Amino acid sequence: MKTVAEASTEILASFEPVGLERVSLLAALGRFSAVDVRAAAALPAFDQSAMDGYAVRASELRGANEETPVTVPVHGESRAGGEPPSALPPGTVMRIFTGAMLPEGADAVVLQEDTQREGDTVQLRVAPKADANVRRQGSDLSVGDLFCPAGTLLGAGEIAVLASQDLASVTLHRRPRVAIVCTGDELRDIGEPARAGSIVSTNAYALAAQVLEAGGEPWVLPAVRDKRSIAADAIRQALAADVVVISGGVSVGDYDVVRDALTDAGIALSFWKIQMKPGKPVSFARARNDRVPVLGLPGNPVSSWVTFELFVRPGLRKMLGDPQPQRRRAEVCLSAPLQRSTGRVEFARARLSPSADGRLVAQLAARQGSGSLPALIGVDALVVLPAESGQITRDDVLEALILRELPDFVRAGS
Ligand code: AMP
Ligand code: MG
Repeated sequence: MKTVAEASTEILASFEPVGLERVSLLAALGRFSAVDVRAAAALPAFDQSAMDGYAVRASELRGANEETPVTVPVHGESRAGGEPPSALPPGTVMRIFTGAMLPEGADAVVLQEDTQREGDTVQLRVAPKADANVRRQGSDLSVGDLFCPAGTLLGAGEIAVLASQDLASVTLHRRPRVAIVCTGDELRDIGEPARAGSIVSTNAYALAAQVLEAGGEPWVLPAVRDKRSIAADAIRQALAADVVVISGGVSVGDYDVVRDALTDAGIALSFWKIQMKPGKPVSFARARNDRVPVLGLPGNPVSSWVTFELFVRPGLRKMLGDPQPQRRRAEVCLSAPLQRSTGRVEFARARLSPSADGRLVAQLAARQGSGSLPALIGVDALVVLPAESGQITRDDVLEALILRELPDFVRAGS
């Protein structure tokens, strides 16, 4: 049986980005640049004033100070978005505003606060250094600067800089299309008439939401009956996607037909068990010349949810170009001591909160059974309970996968 680490490595290696697409700037929010983007235009595009004041030749004002101000004629003005200013005649200054073009000949700006206007002249009370309060062309970005390397997460700031380059769209990795095939005679969709023993296919919704949350495009196929030929047909159809996730039917029960159906669809499993709790029966294969990862997840809702998180989500993030496709890990302590059976590593659902001494405390969901759906409400983290730890005290430091970043109060308290 594979360990979680072995399985993760093998599965993650099978996920590769599936091609590039151009995406309009705002739609790229939260995704990763797939290519290096270099500046095509200098930023600022022209020499400009950083302040409201007067454009001057610094060399002409040496010696100006509070006691001995210098009075000079004002030659016109330059305002943001106005006509380009004429050159500054020697011995004069120009009224200028923030963001306005610096006139030729000027090399500094004296702040309005350091001046006194008197009709056509102005009194200047400081001797600026050259370049004072001036934003030089290209001082932020020169043409050719690599400002957005491949793998950059595109947030509001990155989008602003891309916009400064007149880019209406960016090149991203295409969002992977993920086929979701749920198996089980008992399954029905929301709103379909309930029969005795039937259940809503909650995994279809959980998995679709997980795919969306990871940045992929879910493609939910109609639920499949526990019949080998029907399951095989559905799997063949699903292979049109970039990734196939099959829920249920992957264990060893009489009606667990997925392994046979995979064989019929020409897919050879690499492995079908992982040493872990919940979710031991996870199967993995590569289809279509190894291009399409196929994962069979256990049908139990909690197992399905956890194993997607561990084995599918990182792959989807990798496909999107996330340089850190794994969840962040943090150290936590349990809110109460725990006694458990050893042998398998366990991924326990927990809520996190800060303790007075600044530690992160994990309160495990009361029901850790793999079928207990409501235990998925409000989960912040998966706490890793090591295989051989039978007794865990409140002082033991454990590792947790952070699924939801903590709210502000935690940061405020730290
Ligand atoms: P299986 O892995 O097919 O043996 O299913 C294990 C358990 O998960 C059974 O109780 C199933 O009814 C349940 N289950 C299977 N598929 C789903 C699904 N799509 N949604 C919710 N529960 C499911
Ligand atoms: Mg089943």
